[in-house]
Amino acid sequence: MTRIASIGAIVLVAAACLGAQAGKAPAPPAKSAPAAGAFNSTRAWDDLKQMVTIGPRPAGSATLRQTRAYITRQMSAFNLKVEEQTFTADTPIGKVDMVNLIVRLPGKRTDRILFTGHYDTKPIRTSTFVGASDGASSAAMLLELVRALKDKPREFTYEFVWLDGEEAFCASWDECGRPGSPDNTYGSRYYVQAAKKAGTTGSIKANVLVDMVGDKDLRIMRESKSTKWLTDVVWAAAKRAGHGAYFPDRATEIEDDHVPFLEAGIASVDIIDLDYAYWHNMTCCDDLTRVSEASLKIVGEVIMAAVPDIEKYLLK
Ligand SMILES: [Zn+2]
Repeated sequence: MTRIASIGAIVLVAAACLGAQAGKAPAPPAKSAPAAGAFNSTRAWDDLKQMVTIGPRPAGSATLRQTRAYITRQMSAFNLKVEEQTFTADTPIGKVDMVNLIVRLPGKRTDRILFTGHYDTKPIRTSTFVGASDGASSAAMLLELVRALKDKPREFTYEFVWLDGEEAFCASWDECGRPGSPDNTYGSRYYVQAAKKAGTTGSIKANVLVDMVGDKDLRIMRESKSTKWLTDVVWAAAKRAGHGAYFPDRATEIEDDHVPFLEAGIASVDIIDLDYAYWHNMTCCDDLTRVSEASLKIVGEVIMAAVPDIEKYLLK
């Protein structure tokens, strides 16, 4: 990610929120094998570690190409085709070739539910920034969601999109001295622009964005730009799944890859834990010591619980 659009926008929505338990690290995951079709956090954790091992993975780099190859191999192992949506982004450092990766699980309808997240890491020259939460956790989450959802019955087509170029090349998150040219969210802006051009935005009924979901000290607040009904569905699913403590009913406003979708009229929710001391930390340590399998498991289970309810809402 990303930045907090307005720190002052953090407001207490419910006085009796569940935040009392926030700050506690999640319990380690149970050792029993997950049921077939369940979210397997062990696999997601392995994906996260593999991507972190590749090293810093900024847009346009050879290491991000390696990351794409890793994602593609994981999906090929399940006979799933990975489509590459290639484009050239005009950035403050010049033209950069970028690639969004897309996997589709066809449903009974061609109308789609999107699951999105970025897989690049912020270019930070002063340190070895491996983006364990900021980049790897979202990419790993999408991989395991595909595996967990692929054999489940579904009405809608599910589309999983690994977005390139979410991170800004400049230190800040803005136009970087180039009015009218945002230096961020290159992949999501391109995806939406391409869908508009193809006249297919109307078939996208919901977009579930994940970003920075690996934090050991997990706390995901309601992102206030996000579509209300979709946020409500996810937060209700969190409570039902027994994970309400990690999804407090508090609001914060964050700019992220969901914004281009929202601007195109597509219902979107940003599931993000930006309350993370190591976020874009120039010296330390968005690495394996600050993320956990337990957090991936919680977020994965919440999304798995929310998906049938998103379908139900859309079919109403
Ligand atoms: Zn970031």
